[in-house]
Amino acid sequence: MNNIASILEGVRSVAIAGHTRPDGDCVGSCMGMYLYLKENYPEIQADVYLEEPRDVFSYIEDIGRVHTSWPEEKAYDLFLLFDVSSRDRIGVAAQGLETAKNTVCIDHHVTNSGIARINHICPEASSTCEVLYELLEDTRIGKACAEALYTGIIHDTGVFQYSCTSERTMQIGGRLIAKGIPFDQIIQDSFYTKTYVQNQILGRTIMESIMLLDGQCIVGYLKQKDLKFYGVTPADLDGIVNQLRITRGVEVAIFLYETGVQEYKVSMRSNGKVDVAAIALFFGGGGHTRAAGCTMQGSVHDVINALTEPIEKQLRE
Ligand code: AMP
Ligand code: MN
Ligand code: MN
Repeated sequence: MNNIASILEGVRSVAIAGHTRPDGDCVGSCMGMYLYLKENYPEIQADVYLEEPRDVFSYIEDIGRVHTSWPEEKAYDLFLLFDVSSRDRIGVAAQGLETAKNTVCIDHHVTNSGIARINHICPEASSTCEVLYELLEDTRIGKACAEALYTGIIHDTGVFQYSCTSERTMQIGGRLIAKGIPFDQIIQDSFYTKTYVQNQILGRTIMESIMLLDGQCIVGYLKQKDLKFYGVTPADLDGIVNQLRITRGVEVAIFLYETGVQEYKVSMRSNGKVDVAAIALFFGGGGHTRAAGCTMQGSVHDVINALTEPIEKQLRE
């Protein structure tokens, strides 16, 4: 697929969806697509389906129009999936994949095996927003769409910091800035600003973290009772794993939080030597070589032991 126009021929209704717990790239690509359609294809009826987006994305135009549940018996001409690498992560819009006339997945996860009829997956791209930008006509991207796409790029690159950032990523960032977007405010408000409790829970996690494998692996974890004590939700935990990762000498950072009885959501970040996507995939999750995740069962110690074994093996190779 070279451009978005090729899949929009004859299409009158489009459903747009992303993954569960939508992050900046997911919200940015879904809303970027929605706003591009609104600006350039007003005749197409488009709806976005996501779990409630976090307040930090409230500056994105029309974010209030996001649907958080799927309407029964609605069959769209086209179902567009963004930033999703496996069927079980589609969340609120899972039904759309079965009922739409055509389905297209646009993504950048190396672990994506192709979940739609047409799959446009670019693992070398920094973000799904970057992949989407390449499918749009630059001259037809308005300010609102540019704000959404820029959001996704800065979130998945850590503000042009992670190794997924390429020369092309920077060029696209420049093109989007040229649309007159308040890029400094977007970076500050959606990426850096933390609430007081977010900082507290970050500090608490680091205080209680443990170093393993001769300081090459750092682990931070939170139990349900900790989340309750601080009154935080999973959305408040974004960024903790990256703070762990920047510890000197660390190759892999692991962050887990309890999601149910003997169940943990695992986030892993690598500084380059270890392929964490391979480990996450083995445990039923997925992601990228340097940032991946999965859900695991057992006690904290079971989970840590299970994860450190393949990490140690990779570090020895
Ligand atoms: P996270 O650690 O949740 O920020 O996720 C890091 C990367 O791994 C993101 O690109 C996610 O899309 C991906 N990822 C996280 N959890 C899963 C999962 N359970 N299955 C597939 N991919 C995941
Ligand atoms: Mn994502
Ligand atoms: Mn992404």
